[in-house]
Amino acid sequence: MKYNLNVSIDQDSGFCFGVVYAIDMAEEILAEEGYLYCLGDIVHNDEEVTRLKAKGLRIISHEDLQGIRDEKVLIRAHGEAPETYKLALENNITLIDASCPVVLKLQNRIKNSHDSQEKVFIFGKHGHAEVIGLQGQTNNEAIVFQDIAELEDVDLPDKFTLYSQTTKSTAKFYQIKEELINRGHDIKANDTICRQVSNRDEELRKFVKNYDRIVFVSGKKSSNGKVLFEVCLQHNPNTYFVSNEDELTKEMFNPGDKVGICGATSTPMWLMSQVKKALETF
Ligand code: SF4
Repeated sequence: MKYNLNVSIDQDSGFCFGVVYAIDMAEEILAEEGYLYCLGDIVHNDEEVTRLKAKGLRIISHEDLQGIRDEKVLIRAHGEAPETYKLALENNITLIDASCPVVLKLQNRIKNSHDSQEKVFIFGKHGHAEVIGLQGQTNNEAIVFQDIAELEDVDLPDKFTLYSQTTKSTAKFYQIKEELINRGHDIKANDTICRQVSNRDEELRKFVKNYDRIVFVSGKKSSNGKVLFEVCLQHNPNTYFVSNEDELTKEMFNPGDKVGICGATSTPMWLMSQVKKALETF
């Protein structure tokens, strides 16, 4: 039986400008030189990484970087800690710095707070590349937490400055701020969530209400993918998370369903188009 699904892609989904900038930079060098080292996955999307690897992108770890000399290495949108810049100088590495301007601005603000002796707290994911770069601005003295419960065991100062990783949930950030104020702390809370994420959060709330089923396309490692998927699910319980078209099954749908496809700031439009094409064959 043919399902005849009526499928549309959210035109506001797809890469944010920070990811577009990094990928454009990588593709330009790949076209000229045939290969380029990139420190960590250029984007948290396996399908896009595979596409770029085929063009010559070589993903390396921080450990690998220690052994590389006299080469060009791309820094992705998440940014890096000062140690990476120092190592690059020592190893005569030319850094192609595609750190997102939004992340660089946040790194600067955190550095200024630390230099002004403020106690810095970062609401972010432990071990996430961006968070490592942010913490690095404070000589790794900033306290990172991803849940307020983690602060129970911390001797909190009366006064401190709060920042957020750029891709965290806005709602959660404000809940945390309120909770800390209610507990009597004097906090300077800076909402540093990227507007590319928080605006998409707002737009997706409206988008998902128009469909019987939602297919949310994202890499499993994407932080904003997790946040935005939760938003979709909250506003349309018939939302499925898939990384690519191979994860779709007919059982997810009813014949004639109106299906909306959307994704994270790290989801390429070409992948959502592939998902659409697959759904149209059901
Ligand atoms: S989500 Fe925002 S901060 Fe992160 S790369 Fe995109 S534009 Fe930059």
